[in-house]
Amino acid sequence: MERVSRRNFLKASAMTGAALMGGSVFIGREQMAHSSQYGEIELPVDKIPIVHEADVVVIGGGPGGFGAAIRAARTGASTILIERFDMPGGVHTSGLQGAWNPGVGGVHTELMERLVKEGHVYTITEKTHPDWAGNPLSHYEAGRKPGSAFSRSTFNPEAGGNVMLAMLREARVKALYNNSFVGVRMKHVSDGDSAIEAVIVQNASGKQAIKGKVFIDGSGTAEVVARAGAPFVRGGGPQPSTVASDGQNRPIPGGLLWIMSGIDFDEVTLYQKSKNDPTLSKLISAALAAGDIPSDLFRPRLSGKCVYGNLYIGHPTLDINPIQGPGTFIFWENVPYEWALHMDDSAEDEARAKAAMREFIDAEARFLKKYVPGFKNAFITNVGRYMGIRDGRHPVGEYVFSMDDALSKRTFPDAAVKPMTKVFHWDCYKPHTFQVPYRCFLPKTVNNLLLTGASMSFTYDTLFMVMRNFPWCMQTGEIAGFAAAQSVAQGIPPKQYKWTTPLF
Ligand SMILES: Cc1cc2nc3c(=O)[nH]c(=O)nc-3n(C[C@H](O)[C@H](O)[C@H](O)COP(=O)(O)OP(=O)(O)OC[C@H]3O[C@@H](n4cnc5c(N)ncnc54)[C@H](O)[C@@H]3O)c2cc1C
Repeated sequence: MERVSRRNFLKASAMTGAALMGGSVFIGREQMAHSSQYGEIELPVDKIPIVHEADVVVIGGGPGGFGAAIRAARTGASTILIERFDMPGGVHTSGLQGAWNPGVGGVHTELMERLVKEGHVYTITEKTHPDWAGNPLSHYEAGRKPGSAFSRSTFNPEAGGNVMLAMLREARVKALYNNSFVGVRMKHVSDGDSAIEAVIVQNASGKQAIKGKVFIDGSGTAEVVARAGAPFVRGGGPQPSTVASDGQNRPIPGGLLWIMSGIDFDEVTLYQKSKNDPTLSKLISAALAAGDIPSDLFRPRLSGKCVYGNLYIGHPTLDINPIQGPGTFIFWENVPYEWALHMDDSAEDEARAKAAMREFIDAEARFLKKYVPGFKNAFITNVGRYMGIRDGRHPVGEYVFSMDDALSKRTFPDAAVKPMTKVFHWDCYKPHTFQVPYRCFLPKTVNNLLLTGASMSFTYDTLFMVMRNFPWCMQTGEIAGFAAAQSVAQGIPPKQYKWTTPLF
């Protein structure tokens, strides 16, 4: 956020009533930093109507924002949720990643149970899919012993969005869909900190302002943090030498998910076995030789271990997982890691990613139908509404949780959760037991903003993959929502709220 001059600030603070003075206060710092070769234009000062006011305003309705809004409302705060798409759920609904997990407590358990009860969960086992465990095409079960017992459940993302929408309504959250958060209006408070007075949204009516006492950043990419001028670091870190020889800082790539129906998987496995082609590499080579697929569609895995070797950064795109019902599978289309795109703050990168991934999806679908037995009658049914970002901005909060905290089993007086045992992909899946302090929810310099979901104050190696998973994001959402409502009830900013007892 560009700082307002003292004169403008006083003028703006003195305003009451139905409009906020606009101008440069609404322009995010990052946007300002992107100067253009074509120069700039100046717009007249805007008057933006204040259309809503609430105790707690949550920006973004993904797992983090959803959990936060429900918990804040249930704790007694009037709560507004701002979401740019037509339903809540983020990566897991609009982004199609309908991975179902057993409940970990709180709202997550309620949601998982309700999805089962309403018939939106599809489960496969070794009985329904005897050739699935150990199959190299399986995103999740590829590493299992062939023929071993397993159970894999997914929920229908569209139906899941409807259930989440209903849960917000039942909790009396005022959810504003098709509203994009585009800026903040700040005010100065004591000790050199600032506070958010209102957020600005863009919707069918134009620009509107929404005032609140406490705000929660559930954008998944710390967008509120960035617009409010609070500190953050870019994603990316030490990369394998084969990738980073040019010295570029590469974020862990994002991905666009898509769904295909009409697949006869028995026919696929018959081909894999009879032609001794478990990875379909013979068919891929034939398609490449015929010029039917781009050379970077199916990228080779990197040779390193863990994250670099077999997951995400180097993972090829022919990974699938059953979803919704028989013959329907979800596919991963990852951005090639070499491209080093920052899709969370560069319009050019975001547009390039979505367009390029759609071209990849088109090429992959045509390849599958033409070359792979079992896909002859298959068709694309969904493409995610947005590219999922795995490694965006990482806010620098009052405490930054690092691998060292996990490895040293550090305990904290303000632990927000009981000790958790989790495996970190970065650490080659070794289990670690650790706590997370409430200070990880508090960005520096803004005293009435809380963090949640993938926008927490964690180093990127701890965030990836464990601390940004769906269940954990919903728990951090509830912690933020609870702290927000308690702060409002006590008439203090979340920075002054004393967290004493773990919530989960
Ligand atoms: C491709 C991919 C695959 C994944 N697979 C798994 C998996 O299998 N299992 C698992 O547990 N986790 C998985 N994850 C991780 C997990 O999905 C995310 O970390 C998690 O969804 C983050 O939750 P969130 O609420 O912070 O953000 P998101 O889920 O990204 O939700 C953010 C929400 O905020 C909204 N929003 C953003 N900006 C604005 C704005 N300006 N105005 C209004 N609304 C806005 C978005 O529309 C979205 O609804 C995956 C992530 C990705 C990207």
